Amino acid sequence: MKVVKENPLVSERTLVLVKPDGVRRGVVGDVISRLERKGLAVVAMELRTLSRETAEDHYAEHRERPFFGELVDFITGGPLVALVAEGPRAIEAFRALAGATDPVKAAPGTIRGDHALEIGENVVHGSDSPESAAREIKLFFPELG
Ligand code: GDP
Ligand code: MG
Repeated sequence: MKVVKENPLVSERTLVLVKPDGVRRGVVGDVISRLERKGLAVVAMELRTLSRETAEDHYAEHRERPFFGELVDFITGGPLVALVAEGPRAIEAFRALAGATDPVKAAPGTIRGDHALEIGENVVHGSDSPESAAREIKLFFPELG
């Protein structure tokens, strides 16, 4: 039987985090509402507080950066909402909804542009490539396979 590679135009998955600042400020509903309005679907979701080990694993690419310790302190500092969003070009679509990493540079109308001022507290995370999405989804939701 011929195996057809999944077409990203039809379906792709991305890992979204509403970070502890977003949960604290009560914007979980707004984030979900925006991604659903765009046409993405939530296919898994959990409220949890990350261990340092999981946080360091999730942000492994930033291990050598000067802000790494601060980043891990922040992301483990309270409950966050992890979810998997699915839809056509979901990775790029959610990054566009999130806006630039620096919330002051993020366009008004984006999640970060509307809800944040500090780079260290920028409300959401979204996977940045198919490889990151696969790795991050496996880390947060191993049962999804
Ligand atoms: P993202 O993919 O847009 O989330 O950005 P990056 O992968 O480059 O960085 C991961 C996260 O680290 C960002 O979302 C920020 O919250 C945080 N971060 C990035 N740069 C800085 C910085 O200079 N200082 C601090 N405190 N946090 C940073
Ligand atoms: Mg990133």
